Amino acid sequence: MLQLNEPLADLVADAAAGLHRSFGIEPSVTAAAPGRVNLIGEHIDYCDGFVLPFAIDRYIVIAAALNGTGNARIASSHGGGIATFAVDQPQVEGEPQWANYLRGVVQGFQQRGHHIPGFDAYIVSSVPGGAGLSSSAALECATATLLEGLLDTVLDTREKALLCQKAEHDFAHVPCGIMDQFASAFGKTNRLVMIDCKTGEPELVPFENPDLTVVIANTTVHHQLSDGGYASRRKNTEDGLAILGKASWRDVTSVDVEAAWDRLGDPVNRRARHVVSEIARTRLAAEALSRNDFEALGPLMAASHDSLRDDFEVSCKELDLMVDIARRIGRSGGVIGARMTGGGFGGSTVTLCESDKAKEIATVMRDRYLAETGLDPQIFASRPSQGAHLIGRAG
Ligand code: ADP
Ligand code: MG
Repeated sequence: MLQLNEPLADLVADAAAGLHRSFGIEPSVTAAAPGRVNLIGEHIDYCDGFVLPFAIDRYIVIAAALNGTGNARIASSHGGGIATFAVDQPQVEGEPQWANYLRGVVQGFQQRGHHIPGFDAYIVSSVPGGAGLSSSAALECATATLLEGLLDTVLDTREKALLCQKAEHDFAHVPCGIMDQFASAFGKTNRLVMIDCKTGEPELVPFENPDLTVVIANTTVHHQLSDGGYASRRKNTEDGLAILGKASWRDVTSVDVEAAWDRLGDPVNRRARHVVSEIARTRLAAEALSRNDFEALGPLMAASHDSLRDDFEVSCKELDLMVDIARRIGRSGGVIGARMTGGGFGGSTVTLCESDKAKEIATVMRDRYLAETGLDPQIFASRPSQGAHLIGRAG
């Protein structure tokens, strides 16, 4: 029941075909950027924490060519018509909404002093949207990489990721941390992108044990709470830090949180407990991974999920069910650990499995989830893959 990932070459061909169909032209530049999955370290990228994501082998690909006008004309295989907007003027939000991610990135380049020439573009994707796998960061990073190609310039990768994060803040109004864009921009084959979100420094950590398979299960639900929910959690953590009187969550211990429990008040005290404990768990998980200690990893992933469910309250019954199904399969059935991944309120879970049992595990997860919810989940394996790059100019 493990679904296959469409090869990148097929997506590139689909994007070229779409560009030809929509605008009657051949691409001069094609850019790809992946979604991401996070193994552990959730909702702490905006709290000076550590996160442990990798770029998945699912991509947004954009094929484009200059059109000799001052406008961008963009179509997506997801539908939504053709988005047309002036790229020789300051950017404003508009319809269709999905094009705001591109407008935001165009604005970032304009603010660096670039003059953006008009272009036609076609977008295809194998990153499920709204599934907690960061199709939005993939879209931003693919757009930024496309503009690099069209302008024949190269941005520093960190600067590019931060420009994309700003696009998400200003044009999608999601006050996200740095994880998603960093994972999509810095991702490398067989490497996790461990990020110290205090220094903003990513470190590429080997992840190539053939005995380990990462199974991603998209619950296919996306609860509408999500946008306001994310912002309110971020606000809770800012309030908590202010009440604790600290400059950074890295200066806060679990003893500090316990001592200030009543002063923090509910739910800020529980949010604080999540942040401090998740930072500690992520450090331990990185150490466990480096010594291939999977027995230590499983309980850390379990504790992360429970903390997100009970203290941070960003899980939902479908995510809890999917994680619970994996837990019931258990270590004897080849499951090393399972948790929700990404922002929550729906979306996906990540299950670390023994490779020779991964197919069977995915089948059981699908069958039980379908039986209990009536929903057919999307379940696939993924490996750490190449981050955003120009096709034919992979770095
Ligand atoms: P996630 O990042 O977890 O996938 P978001 O809600 O942050 O979820 O981003 C999803 C949005 O990104 C979609 O609503 C759409 O606006 C945009 N998007 C994603 N994929 C595509 C695509 N292939 N074509 C056009 N827009 C897309
Ligand atoms: Mg997103």
